[in-house]
Amino acid sequence: ATPTAVMVGTGIGAQCGILIKGGAHLETAHKISAVIFDKTGTLTSGKPTVTHSTIIGSSATKHHMDKKSFFEIVASAEAASEHPLAGAIVNYAFTVCDVNSTHVPTNFESVTGSGIRCTIKDIDVMIGNMKWIQEEGISFNSADKTEQESHIRKLENEGNTVVFVVMNQEITGYIAISDQLKPEARATITELKKLGIFPWMVTGDNQRTANAIASQVGITQVFAEVLPSNKSKKVQELKQQGHIVAMIGDGINDSPALAEADIGIAIGAGTDIAIEAADIVLVKSDLRDVITAISLSKTTFNRIR
Ligand code: ADP
Ligand code: MG
Repeated sequence: ATPTAVMVGTGIGAQCGILIKGGAHLETAHKISAVIFDKTGTLTSGKPTVTHSTIIGSSATKHHMDKKSFFEIVASAEAASEHPLAGAIVNYAFTVCDVNSTHVPTNFESVTGSGIRCTIKDIDVMIGNMKWIQEEGISFNSADKTEQESHIRKLENEGNTVVFVVMNQEITGYIAISDQLKPEARATITELKKLGIFPWMVTGDNQRTANAIASQVGITQVFAEVLPSNKSKKVQELKQQGHIVAMIGDGINDSPALAEADIGIAIGAGTDIAIEAADIVLVKSDLRDVITAISLSKTTFNRIR
Protein backbone atom coordinates (compact mmCIF):
# COMPACT_ATOMS: atom_id res chain seq x y z
CA ALA A 1 0.00 0.00 0.00
CA THR A 2 1.12 3.54 -0.70
CA PRO A 3 1.59 5.98 2.21
CA THR A 4 -1.47 7.79 0.91
CA ALA A 5 -3.57 4.63 1.03
CA VAL A 6 -2.46 4.04 4.63
CA MET A 7 -3.38 7.61 5.56
CA VAL A 8 -6.76 7.17 3.95
CA GLY A 9 -7.21 3.89 5.84
CA THR A 10 -6.42 5.36 9.26
CA GLY A 11 -8.58 8.36 8.39
CA ILE A 12 -11.57 6.15 7.61
CA GLY A 13 -10.89 4.28 10.85
CA ALA A 14 -10.95 7.53 12.80
CA GLN A 15 -14.27 8.48 11.20
CA CYS A 16 -15.69 5.13 12.30
CA GLY A 17 -14.46 5.59 15.87
CA ILE A 18 -11.45 3.30 15.45
CA LEU A 19 -8.32 5.11 16.52
CA ILE A 20 -5.31 3.47 14.89
CA LYS A 21 -2.04 4.78 16.30
CA GLY A 22 0.04 4.38 13.15
CA GLY A 23 0.12 2.71 9.75
CA ALA A 24 2.10 -0.30 11.01
CA HIS A 25 -0.81 -1.32 13.26
CA LEU A 26 -3.27 -1.01 10.39
CA GLU A 27 -1.01 -3.35 8.43
CA THR A 28 -0.77 -5.93 11.23
CA ALA A 29 -4.56 -6.03 11.73
CA HIS A 30 -5.28 -8.29 8.74
CA LYS A 31 -2.62 -10.77 9.85
CA ILE A 32 -4.19 -11.46 13.26
CA SER A 33 -4.78 -15.17 13.86
CA ALA A 34 -5.87 -15.15 17.52
CA VAL A 35 -7.75 -12.61 19.64
CA ILE A 36 -7.65 -12.71 23.43
CA PHE A 37 -10.58 -10.97 25.12
CA ASP A 38 -10.46 -9.81 28.71
CA LYS A 39 -13.74 -10.80 30.43
CA THR A 40 -14.87 -8.05 32.79
CA GLY A 41 -15.50 -4.73 31.08
CA THR A 42 -14.57 -6.11 27.66
CA LEU A 43 -16.98 -8.98 26.94
CA THR A 44 -19.22 -7.82 29.78
CA SER A 45 -20.55 -4.38 30.64
CA GLY A 46 -18.24 -4.05 33.65
CA LYS A 47 -21.18 -2.89 35.77
CA PRO A 48 -21.85 -5.94 37.95
CA THR A 49 -24.81 -6.34 40.28
CA VAL A 50 -25.49 -8.63 43.23
CA THR A 51 -27.94 -11.37 42.27
CA HIS A 52 -27.95 -13.50 45.39
CA SER A 53 -26.58 -13.80 48.93
CA THR A 54 -26.55 -16.57 51.50
CA ILE A 55 -25.80 -15.94 55.15
CA ILE A 56 -24.56 -18.96 57.06
CA GLY A 57 -24.92 -19.21 60.81
CA SER A 58 -21.70 -19.24 62.77
CA SER A 59 -21.08 -22.63 64.35
CA ALA A 60 -18.90 -21.15 67.09
CA THR A 61 -21.37 -18.57 68.31
CA LYS A 62 -24.56 -20.36 67.17
CA HIS A 63 -25.43 -16.96 65.88
CA HIS A 64 -27.17 -16.23 62.62
CA MET A 65 -26.62 -12.69 61.47
CA ASP A 66 -29.48 -10.80 59.91
CA LYS A 67 -28.98 -9.51 56.40
CA LYS A 68 -28.59 -5.88 57.44
CA SER A 69 -25.84 -6.51 60.03
CA PHE A 70 -24.06 -8.90 57.65
CA PHE A 71 -24.05 -6.40 54.81
CA GLU A 72 -23.11 -3.54 57.12
CA ILE A 73 -19.81 -5.31 57.84
CA VAL A 74 -19.37 -6.46 54.25
CA ALA A 75 -20.02 -2.98 52.86
CA SER A 76 -17.68 -1.40 55.42
CA ALA A 77 -14.90 -3.64 54.11
CA GLU A 78 -15.72 -3.32 50.41
CA ALA A 79 -16.14 0.48 50.58
CA ALA A 80 -12.35 0.62 50.85
CA SER A 81 -11.82 -1.44 47.66
CA GLU A 82 -11.75 -0.08 44.12
CA HIS A 83 -12.71 -3.38 42.50
CA PRO A 84 -15.92 -3.33 40.41
CA LEU A 85 -17.26 -6.23 42.51
CA ALA A 86 -16.85 -4.05 45.60
CA GLY A 87 -18.97 -1.32 44.04
CA ALA A 88 -21.73 -3.83 43.30
CA ILE A 89 -21.70 -5.10 46.88
CA VAL A 90 -21.70 -1.65 48.51
CA ASN A 91 -24.51 -0.53 46.24
CA TYR A 92 -26.56 -3.62 47.10
CA ALA A 93 -25.99 -3.13 50.83
CA PHE A 94 -27.30 0.44 50.72
CA THR A 95 -30.16 0.03 48.25
CA VAL A 96 -31.48 -3.44 49.09
CA CYS A 97 -30.35 -4.28 52.63
CA ASP A 98 -31.19 -0.96 54.33
CA VAL A 99 -27.60 -0.35 55.35
CA ASN A 100 -27.23 3.37 55.97
CA SER A 101 -23.82 3.74 57.54
CA THR A 102 -20.49 1.94 57.47
CA HIS A 103 -17.58 1.48 59.85
CA VAL A 104 -14.08 2.54 58.98
CA PRO A 105 -11.94 -0.59 58.59
CA THR A 106 -8.46 -0.87 60.06
CA ASN A 107 -5.53 -2.93 58.71
CA PHE A 108 -7.13 -2.83 55.26
CA GLU A 109 -5.29 -4.90 52.68
CA SER A 110 -6.21 -5.59 49.07
CA VAL A 111 -4.84 -8.85 47.67
CA THR A 112 -4.77 -8.49 43.89
CA GLY A 113 -6.76 -11.15 42.05
CA SER A 114 -7.97 -12.64 45.33
CA GLY A 115 -9.90 -10.31 47.61
CA ILE A 116 -9.60 -7.98 50.57
CA ARG A 117 -8.99 -8.30 54.28
CA CYS A 118 -9.37 -5.89 57.20
CA THR A 119 -10.61 -5.50 60.74
CA ILE A 120 -14.04 -4.08 61.49
CA LYS A 121 -15.32 -3.68 65.06
CA ASP A 122 -12.78 -6.28 66.30
CA ILE A 123 -13.90 -8.77 63.64
CA ASP A 124 -11.27 -10.10 61.23
CA VAL A 125 -12.93 -9.88 57.84
CA MET A 126 -11.87 -11.48 54.56
CA ILE A 127 -13.88 -11.25 51.35
CA GLY A 128 -12.66 -12.98 48.21
CA ASN A 129 -12.69 -16.03 46.00
CA MET A 130 -12.68 -19.64 47.23
CA LYS A 131 -9.20 -20.36 45.92
CA TRP A 132 -7.73 -17.65 48.14
CA ILE A 133 -9.91 -18.46 51.15
CA GLN A 134 -8.77 -22.08 50.93
CA GLU A 135 -5.13 -21.07 50.57
CA GLU A 136 -5.62 -19.19 53.85
CA GLY A 137 -6.65 -22.46 55.46
CA ILE A 138 -10.35 -21.74 55.75
CA SER A 139 -13.05 -24.14 54.59
CA PHE A 140 -16.77 -24.70 54.87
CA ASN A 141 -17.78 -26.48 58.04
CA SER A 142 -21.48 -25.92 58.13
CA ALA A 143 -23.75 -28.97 58.41
CA ASP A 144 -25.22 -28.33 54.97
CA LYS A 145 -21.84 -28.01 53.27
CA THR A 146 -22.81 -30.30 50.37
CA GLU A 147 -25.99 -28.37 49.56
CA GLN A 148 -24.14 -25.07 49.80
CA GLU A 149 -21.43 -26.30 47.45
CA SER A 150 -23.90 -27.50 44.84
CA HIS A 151 -25.78 -24.20 45.10
CA ILE A 152 -22.51 -22.33 44.53
CA ARG A 153 -21.66 -24.50 41.51
CA LYS A 154 -25.09 -23.73 40.07
CA LEU A 155 -24.59 -19.99 40.55
CA GLU A 156 -21.19 -20.18 38.87
CA ASN A 157 -22.52 -22.27 35.98
CA GLU A 158 -25.02 -19.46 35.39
CA GLY A 159 -22.10 -17.05 35.02
CA ASN A 160 -22.14 -15.54 38.52
CA THR A 161 -18.93 -14.70 40.34
CA VAL A 162 -19.28 -15.96 43.91
CA VAL A 163 -17.27 -14.27 46.65
CA PHE A 164 -17.00 -15.58 50.19
CA VAL A 165 -17.23 -13.65 53.40
CA VAL A 166 -15.06 -14.82 56.27
CA MET A 167 -15.43 -13.41 59.78
CA ASN A 168 -12.97 -14.50 62.45
CA GLN A 169 -11.72 -17.41 60.30
CA GLU A 170 -15.20 -18.73 59.59
CA ILE A 171 -17.18 -18.56 56.35
CA THR A 172 -20.31 -16.61 57.28
CA GLY A 173 -21.81 -16.19 53.86
CA TYR A 174 -21.36 -15.79 50.15
CA ILE A 175 -22.48 -13.30 47.57
CA ALA A 176 -23.16 -13.92 43.87
CA ILE A 177 -22.48 -11.12 41.45
CA SER A 178 -23.22 -11.05 37.77
CA ASP A 179 -22.25 -8.80 34.94
CA GLN A 180 -24.25 -8.55 31.72
CA LEU A 181 -22.73 -9.58 28.43
CA LYS A 182 -22.31 -6.80 25.92
CA PRO A 183 -25.08 -7.23 23.34
CA GLU A 184 -22.66 -7.44 20.41
CA ALA A 185 -20.20 -9.87 22.05
CA ARG A 186 -21.59 -13.07 20.61
CA ALA A 187 -21.94 -11.77 17.04
CA THR A 188 -18.39 -10.43 17.13
CA ILE A 189 -17.01 -13.83 18.12
CA THR A 190 -19.05 -15.51 15.36
CA GLU A 191 -17.60 -13.09 12.79
CA LEU A 192 -14.04 -13.68 13.99
CA LYS A 193 -14.47 -17.42 13.67
CA LYS A 194 -15.79 -16.96 10.11
CA LEU A 195 -12.57 -15.09 9.34
CA GLY A 196 -10.61 -18.10 10.65
CA ILE A 197 -9.43 -16.22 13.73
CA PHE A 198 -9.27 -18.06 17.07
CA PRO A 199 -11.02 -16.32 19.99
CA TRP A 200 -9.72 -16.71 23.56
CA MET A 201 -10.82 -15.31 26.90
CA VAL A 202 -8.60 -14.34 29.83
CA THR A 203 -9.79 -13.51 33.34
CA GLY A 204 -8.88 -13.53 37.00
CA ASP A 205 -12.26 -15.06 37.72
CA ASN A 206 -12.70 -18.74 38.64
CA GLN A 207 -12.77 -21.47 35.97
CA ARG A 208 -16.45 -22.33 36.27
CA THR A 209 -17.75 -18.77 35.95
CA ALA A 210 -15.25 -18.07 33.19
CA ASN A 211 -16.37 -21.13 31.20
CA ALA A 212 -20.03 -20.13 31.61
CA ILE A 213 -19.45 -16.61 30.26
CA ALA A 214 -17.20 -17.90 27.48
CA SER A 215 -19.77 -20.44 26.30
CA GLN A 216 -22.49 -17.75 26.28
CA VAL A 217 -20.47 -15.79 23.70
CA GLY A 218 -19.19 -18.84 21.80
CA ILE A 219 -15.62 -18.94 23.09
CA THR A 220 -14.23 -22.39 23.90
CA GLN A 221 -10.65 -21.51 24.85
CA VAL A 222 -10.35 -19.95 28.28
CA PHE A 223 -7.50 -18.81 30.50
CA ALA A 224 -9.12 -18.51 33.97
CA GLU A 225 -7.76 -17.67 37.44
CA VAL A 226 -5.00 -15.65 35.83
CA LEU A 227 -3.40 -13.15 38.18
CA PRO A 228 -3.28 -9.65 36.67
CA SER A 229 0.50 -9.83 36.44
CA ASN A 230 0.24 -13.03 34.36
CA LYS A 231 -2.15 -11.87 31.62
CA SER A 232 0.78 -10.88 29.37
CA LYS A 233 2.25 -14.39 29.76
CA LYS A 234 -0.87 -15.79 28.08
CA VAL A 235 -0.27 -13.45 25.12
CA GLN A 236 3.33 -14.71 24.98
CA GLU A 237 2.18 -18.34 25.02
CA LEU A 238 0.00 -17.86 21.95
CA LYS A 239 2.76 -15.91 20.18
CA GLN A 240 5.14 -18.78 20.85
CA GLN A 241 2.64 -21.11 19.21
CA GLY A 242 3.07 -19.00 16.06
CA HIS A 243 -0.03 -16.84 16.38
CA ILE A 244 -0.28 -13.17 15.50
CA VAL A 245 -2.09 -12.08 18.62
CA ALA A 246 -4.49 -9.24 19.31
CA MET A 247 -5.37 -8.56 22.96
CA ILE A 248 -8.52 -6.61 23.80
CA GLY A 249 -8.95 -5.14 27.26
CA ASP A 250 -10.13 -2.21 29.32
CA GLY A 251 -8.37 -2.39 32.67
CA ILE A 252 -5.14 -1.16 34.20
CA ASN A 253 -4.16 -4.80 34.69
CA ASP A 254 -4.62 -5.46 30.96
CA SER A 255 -1.99 -2.90 29.91
CA PRO A 256 1.08 -5.19 30.05
CA ALA A 257 -0.82 -7.73 27.91
CA LEU A 258 -1.92 -4.98 25.50
CA ALA A 259 1.71 -3.94 25.13
CA GLU A 260 2.91 -7.55 24.72
CA ALA A 261 0.39 -8.38 21.96
CA ASP A 262 1.12 -7.91 18.25
CA ILE A 263 -1.83 -5.55 18.43
CA GLY A 264 -3.19 -4.17 21.69
CA ILE A 265 -6.79 -3.01 21.42
CA ALA A 266 -8.35 -0.92 24.18
CA ILE A 267 -12.02 -0.35 24.89
CA GLY A 268 -12.71 3.39 24.65
CA ALA A 269 -14.62 3.39 27.93
CA GLY A 270 -11.65 1.69 29.62
CA THR A 271 -9.00 3.14 31.87
CA ASP A 272 -6.56 5.77 30.52
CA ILE A 273 -3.63 3.44 31.17
CA ALA A 274 -5.10 0.73 28.91
CA ILE A 275 -5.88 3.30 26.21
CA GLU A 276 -2.31 4.55 26.37
CA ALA A 277 -0.81 1.05 26.17
CA ALA A 278 -2.96 0.09 23.15
CA ASP A 279 -2.21 0.35 19.41
CA ILE A 280 -5.88 0.64 18.49
CA VAL A 281 -8.68 2.20 20.53
CA LEU A 282 -12.34 1.30 20.00
CA VAL A 283 -13.67 4.76 20.76
CA LYS A 284 -17.33 3.67 20.75
CA SER A 285 -16.50 0.65 22.95
CA ASP A 286 -18.30 -1.51 20.38
CA LEU A 287 -16.61 -4.90 19.97
CA ARG A 288 -17.81 -5.19 16.35
CA ASP A 289 -15.31 -2.47 15.48
CA VAL A 290 -12.59 -5.11 15.79
CA ILE A 291 -14.07 -6.70 12.67
CA THR A 292 -14.27 -3.31 10.97
CA ALA A 293 -10.59 -2.67 11.77
CA ILE A 294 -9.60 -6.01 10.22
CA SER A 295 -11.66 -5.31 7.07
CA LEU A 296 -10.15 -1.86 6.78
CA SER A 297 -6.69 -3.38 7.03
CA LYS A 298 -7.52 -5.92 4.32
CA THR A 299 -8.89 -3.26 2.00
CA THR A 300 -5.97 -0.91 2.55
CA PHE A 301 -3.39 -3.61 1.96
CA ASN A 302 -5.27 -5.05 -1.02
CA ARG A 303 -6.11 -8.36 0.57
CA ILE A 304 -9.62 -8.17 -0.80
CA ARG A 305 -10.24 -8.40 -4.50
P1 ADP B 1 -11.05 -9.82 36.58
O1 ADP B 1 -10.19 -10.42 35.50
O2 ADP B 1 -12.43 -10.41 36.54
O3 ADP B 1 -11.06 -8.32 36.55
P2 ADP B 1 -9.50 -9.74 39.12
O4 ADP B 1 -8.12 -10.30 38.92
O5 ADP B 1 -9.62 -8.28 39.30
O6 ADP B 1 -10.45 -10.32 37.97
O7 ADP B 1 -10.15 -10.47 40.40
C1 ADP B 1 -10.21 -11.87 40.44
C2 ADP B 1 -11.10 -12.34 41.55
O8 ADP B 1 -10.62 -11.91 42.83
C3 ADP B 1 -12.53 -11.84 41.49
O9 ADP B 1 -13.30 -12.57 40.58
C4 ADP B 1 -12.95 -12.05 42.94
O10 ADP B 1 -13.28 -13.39 43.16
C5 ADP B 1 -11.70 -11.72 43.73
N1 ADP B 1 -11.69 -10.33 44.22
C6 ADP B 1 -10.88 -9.33 43.81
N2 ADP B 1 -11.14 -8.19 44.46
C7 ADP B 1 -12.18 -8.44 45.28
C8 ADP B 1 -12.96 -7.67 46.22
N3 ADP B 1 -12.73 -6.38 46.44
N4 ADP B 1 -13.95 -8.29 46.89
C9 ADP B 1 -14.20 -9.59 46.68
N5 ADP B 1 -13.53 -10.37 45.82
C10 ADP B 1 -12.53 -9.82 45.13
MG1 MG C 1 -11.55 -5.84 32.43
